[in-house]
Amino acid sequence: MSMLEIVTLPAPILRKKTRPVTDFGPELQELIENMVETMRAANGVGLAAPQIGRSLRLAVIEDLPKEDDEGNEIPDSRDLYVIVNPEIVWESRDTVDGIEGCLSIPGYLGEVERAQSIRVRGQDRYGKKMRWRLKEWTARIFQHEIDHLDGVLYIDKLTDEANFWTEEAFQARFEEEE
Ligand code: ZN
Repeated sequence: MSMLEIVTLPAPILRKKTRPVTDFGPELQELIENMVETMRAANGVGLAAPQIGRSLRLAVIEDLPKEDDEGNEIPDSRDLYVIVNPEIVWESRDTVDGIEGCLSIPGYLGEVERAQSIRVRGQDRYGKKMRWRLKEWTARIFQHEIDHLDGVLYIDKLTDEANFWTEEAFQARFEEEE
């Protein structure tokens, strides 16, 4: 496995619609392994192919750890999703505002409104047809990553222009509110 370089704004590839994946051979499997490793090393919860310079309809997502009844993180409880050629086929009318960041826009955070739950159709890493039903935080990550595959970034969808902060400014604002 090897680490991939994460491209950041204003790299033009981040604004391009990606091509569908058609070859599920060893090269794709190696690319996926490298994307997972790169995402983990960057402490990310998702990484889309354009973010490592590949215009392919592919992303990897790793959920937050689950918690037990006492709110303690359960070790090794994060779900890993490899999503190939995904399409959102349904979104709930209920939406929720939440704070997002992006490995391709380092140092910033913004508030985005997303559907609370979604259904996604696509393929797994071997080309098998898949359907996913997702809600809350996982649904948010899926929407963020699938947007990447269409050249859309979270900064296009801010709840308000003012709801975009450097990490430091966000931290300061958060502390003020406490
Ligand atoms: Zn992103």
